[in-house]
Amino acid sequence: MPSADPALQTLLARSSALHGHLCPRQILGVRLALAAGRALGLAFPRMDKRVLVFVETDGCFADGVAVASGCWLGRRTMRLVDHGKVAATFVDTKTGKAVRVAPRTDVRQRVKDSRPEGQKRYDAYLQAYQEWPDGDILTVQGVEMKLDIPGIVSVHGKRVVCQACQEEIINEREVVQDGRVLCAACAGNSYFRPA
Ligand SMILES: [Zn+2]
Ligand SMILES: [Zn+2]
Repeated sequence: MPSADPALQTLLARSSALHGHLCPRQILGVRLALAAGRALGLAFPRMDKRVLVFVETDGCFADGVAVASGCWLGRRTMRLVDHGKVAATFVDTKTGKAVRVAPRTDVRQRVKDSRPEGQKRYDAYLQAYQEWPDGDILTVQGVEMKLDIPGIVSVHGKRVVCQACQEEIINEREVVQDGRVLCAACAGNSYFRPA
């Protein structure tokens, strides 16, 4: 077994217990989040809501990010921007500073090329993603958010009722159309229709 750093091992134990298995993308998620915490100068995993993370895909990767950052859907500190990419942007909502962390585009090839004779690719990824230094695995880039971060964070606990469907809308997600307070669905932005 690889002898990676103990803090990383603790997080991986936590995330694989939640996730059901340990897999390369989950490790990448953990590594990426830890690198983001360092770049932002913030301790991860966080117990407060200071950091908002935008993951660019769901799946194994997102579980690793959640465990290592302390940001998840249930805390309103994780959002999915589904670009199908193993990458995430971490925003310090206090300072507005943001970093996007992604795997190096050549990392998989380099792991394949450097694995010992006979080692399976999957096992090589598992090992490299735990042992290789950040710089060999990840790129960290300072970014500026094009999204309205305070709007996304919104006022917690605020609630109104949609004047069309009467369902409750929380977190300031209502829209006002012709003077009526509506939910996004009734305003014409629904993702479903009655069967
Ligand atoms: Zn997995
Ligand atoms: Zn409605």
